[in-house]
Amino acid sequence: MKQKIKKDDIVTVITGKDKGKSGKVLKVFPDRDKVIVEKINFVKRHTKPSQKVAQGGIIEKEAQLSLSKVMLICGKCGKPTRVKIVTLADGKKTRACKKCNEMLDEK
Ligand SMILES: [Zn+2]
Repeated sequence: MKQKIKKDDIVTVITGKDKGKSGKVLKVFPDRDKVIVEKINFVKRHTKPSQKVAQGGIIEKEAQLSLSKVMLICGKCGKPTRVKIVTLADGKKTRACKKCNEMLDEK
């Protein structure tokens, strides 16, 4: 496992216009190092009239955000943190918080 941010993680934005906001990860694009975060990085898109939206108009939608612009918020200590990958005794790899060392994927 090399992916440090996963779907349903709560992340905070560390740079850009949404700096300081946080939200839930809706989608991860590992090969592109991008994420889509709920209610973050909204962009306005113009839509043409269609059968659904007779008048067309402007819709707001989350746009992809670079992974380097977000940091995971640790569910345990509640702080934005870097993630480290640790190997468990049985050889499995899991993610851990660099601040409090709590395993992030163990329940
Ligand atoms: Zn922590």
